[in-house]
Amino acid sequence: MVRAIVGANWGDEGKGKITDMLAKESDIIIRFQGGSNAGHTIINDYGKFALHLLPSGVFYQHTTSIIGNGVALNIPYLVQEIESLVERGVPKPRILVSDRAQILMPYHVLFDTYEEARLAGKSFGSTKSGIAPFYSDKYAKIGFQVSELFDQELLREKAYRVCELKNVILEHLYHKPLLDPEEIIKELLSYRDMVEPYVCDTSAYLHEAIKEGKKILLEGQLGSLKDPDHGIYPMVTSSSTLAAYGAIGAGIPPYEIKDITTVVKAYSSAVGAGAFVSEIFGDEADELRNRGGDGGEYGATTGRPRRVGWFDAVATRYGCRIQGTTEVAFTVLDVLGYLDEIPVCVGYEIDGQVTREFPTTAKLEKAKPVLTRLPGWKCDIRGIRKYGDLPENCRKYIEFVEKEIEAPISMVSNGPGRDDIIMRK
Ligand code: GDP
Repeated sequence: MVRAIVGANWGDEGKGKITDMLAKESDIIIRFQGGSNAGHTIINDYGKFALHLLPSGVFYQHTTSIIGNGVALNIPYLVQEIESLVERGVPKPRILVSDRAQILMPYHVLFDTYEEARLAGKSFGSTKSGIAPFYSDKYAKIGFQVSELFDQELLREKAYRVCELKNVILEHLYHKPLLDPEEIIKELLSYRDMVEPYVCDTSAYLHEAIKEGKKILLEGQLGSLKDPDHGIYPMVTSSSTLAAYGAIGAGIPPYEIKDITTVVKAYSSAVGAGAFVSEIFGDEADELRNRGGDGGEYGATTGRPRRVGWFDAVATRYGCRIQGTTEVAFTVLDVLGYLDEIPVCVGYEIDGQVTREFPTTAKLEKAKPVLTRLPGWKCDIRGIRKYGDLPENCRKYIEFVEKEIEAPISMVSNGPGRDDIIMRK
């Protein structure tokens, strides 16, 4: 049984926590897209962790963690992340890396940094982890696949070819030091030694696992609205954040994904630039930001303050639909306990017309939120384990959101810990 855990919003919905929790009952957890550019915060018996590249199932000894072919694989980062877990007392996880994954190179990080600097005020708000240059190279067919590390002749030829191209841009566009192909080859060979113990034909491995009836989780990074096709292009990430891509990025048949658990946050938060209709500012925003998530809404990768806003039913209904949601995990609800009234965005006003449909970017930029207000519950709901024990106004909020997003909320998360969860069915 394959279950995808994906985000409906702009990322940071709490997928890490839900994955860590569901991994207890799972055999295999797979990252299928993205790279080390976004973080997943997990709090469990070993402490608090910000994972960037490893799937959030690495804390159990019975699980196998897979870096799928769709991931932007930063090899030194992977090794360092594994080491840092072990140093903190986590038993060494069982990790497999797809032989078809492509390698994120140091020059991808450089190009990302140089381009953001060149765009200056018009930048995309990249985390400068090299993700956009990495995926550009993958689709331009000049990326390095893990399997290619074991063919020195091919590496040499490609390293020279890639440097020829990159150096034109480095010299004439960015005016930066040039790449040395011999250095690139040396780097790649050191990567080969680092990654070799983990390399596996993971698609074949998963084929067998599916046949044996293993429980498999696909862990998405970011959310629907950051998808390059269906999100707020161009303020998106460079790989698909959708459950459908899980089939491609893990190498499994699409029809094996039986459950799509979409993680929805009880209010909105976003990092980076882009239209954000229900965004709030000033003291109102500072209060939500400081109370938000676990210890405030600050990026797990960059430490940047996240932009925050009220729950956006228009964006989230769309986000759930485009994921193919079968059930919703509704998270960080506990944070809203301080409010007398909770505004919810139920429509967008664009050029004087109100719509419930999520528009393309140019129209989105013009949208103004249509807000409705729900009464708050004015208490701390952490520690509650039964749905019926939640305050009535809190249940009303959940049920209002459920109706708006047109997807069933099966889990409510009321705290950052593994056990802070209310199962509704
Ligand atoms: P991800 O990228 O979707 O995995 O989300 P992040 O880990 O970046 O952001 C979620 C943040 O919210 C983390 O700091 C979590 O510890 C925290 N978190 C997750 N679920 C809850 C919850 O139900 N309540 C509270 N207060 N914090 C939560």
